[in-house]
Amino acid sequence: MKTSSFESVIGLEIHAQLLTKTKLFCGCSTQYGNPPNSLTCPVCLGLPGALPVLNQEAVAMAVKLALAIKAQLNLRSVFSRKNYFYPDLPKGYQITQYHLPVAINGYLKIESNGTYKTIGIERINLEEDAGKSIHEGMPDSAQKTYLDFNRSGIPLLEIVGKPEINSPSEAVEFLQLFRTTLQYIEICDGNMEEGSLRCDANLSVRKKGSSKLGIKTEIKNLNSFRFLHKALEYEAQRQIALLEAGQSVSQETRLWDEKANKTRPMRTKEEAHDYRYFPEPDLPPLVISANFINKIKATLPEFPQEKRERFEQQYKLPAYDAKVLTSSRQLANYFEQTAKICQQPKQASHWIMREVLQFLKDSGITISEFPVSPQNLAELIMLVEKKEISLRTAKEEVFPEMIKTKQKATAIIKRKGLTQVSDEEQIKNIILRVTKDNPKPLKQYLGGKTQVAGFFVGQVMKETRGRANPQLVNKILRQILDGYQK
Ligand code: ZN
Ligand code: MN
Repeated sequence: MKTSSFESVIGLEIHAQLLTKTKLFCGCSTQYGNPPNSLTCPVCLGLPGALPVLNQEAVAMAVKLALAIKAQLNLRSVFSRKNYFYPDLPKGYQITQYHLPVAINGYLKIESNGTYKTIGIERINLEEDAGKSIHEGMPDSAQKTYLDFNRSGIPLLEIVGKPEINSPSEAVEFLQLFRTTLQYIEICDGNMEEGSLRCDANLSVRKKGSSKLGIKTEIKNLNSFRFLHKALEYEAQRQIALLEAGQSVSQETRLWDEKANKTRPMRTKEEAHDYRYFPEPDLPPLVISANFINKIKATLPEFPQEKRERFEQQYKLPAYDAKVLTSSRQLANYFEQTAKICQQPKQASHWIMREVLQFLKDSGITISEFPVSPQNLAELIMLVEKKEISLRTAKEEVFPEMIKTKQKATAIIKRKGLTQVSDEEQIKNIILRVTKDNPKPLKQYLGGKTQVAGFFVGQVMKETRGRANPQLVNKILRQILDGYQK
């Protein structure tokens, strides 16, 4: 393929809405879904003379993220004004960080095709959100645009990733791990549909092996993992086609159009100097003490990246399984508790990855609401291991009943009479009866058609309703058939 001589260079810029109770520079609530303009005050409406006061909770959250992505915290950082005009920005500027951000140089290690790759993060800026323009849904929407300032001043972390991603799948992996990290440290709910996690991407293409960067475009409106993947794929192909036709890519901001399934131009890209950044005169520099950082450190959980690597080593799990099992703290805890009780991490992983996650997906509930406790799942795994029930019976009959009734496996097995038949005498009698009742297949077997043995195994399973120990059935069946031969 012609296009395979090109590679993509992708960088993500992420905005994460912080889970603080109040806004970044005033006491207004950050609650979602309230009547328009009900959560506002002179500060977040940008009225003349109103002065901002920094929210400590938001600073603590920025520190948490910096620690989670191993970024270097700037003990002294500065707020700046980013000047631009837009109706949803009443002050005429956004308070953000520019010359001295709260943290720089972090990274996340993503898993891609079974290996790990480090993707750098250039900086973390603490900034305020703008209000929201409402262009649709009102009776006079054709003539008017409405403004809702409830979102104005809500704290955000702006994360600027380094252009070290080389494919749409890597971009998705990165954003997924980033989102999981935010959720582990409980600073953002990660809800992309409601806009509490937003992602823009810049992409350029270049000939493979070249170290020179091509001209990039920035793509906005990537509010799901699927759109991120599709938009990057589309944009790379579009740029490659332009270059192959001898044309050039123009630096611009493009929009992902989910209905048309393509990116389209939005505006030409502005340069940083267009914003006339300058230090915010109404706020002193943000100073963070070592003591403050240490106090926060002590409250942090194990991060997903570390947990995933520990799972691989401690439980000997494949990278993919470790990634899935650590996709939320609750799921990881559920796995570890189950594995600890049954002492069989591989089986615990197998059951959770297949049966449990499938059920969660089908029923739309979370692991916290799952009716089977780790204790009860561990017990079921041990019963299979001890051959008291077959794996098939466990999956098809016991497990669904455990979900339905919340009963322990032992109680269900007893009530339904599902214990595996491991009594050699009993199995032998069944085989003798089955072979006598089916003289034709027996004759075929004795005539050399050995694959007929499978038929007899099937018959024994039918007689025992699947409860016969399959290894024993095979062993005894062979002995009996060999006996007939003589
Ligand atoms: Zn306010
Ligand atoms: Mn921003």
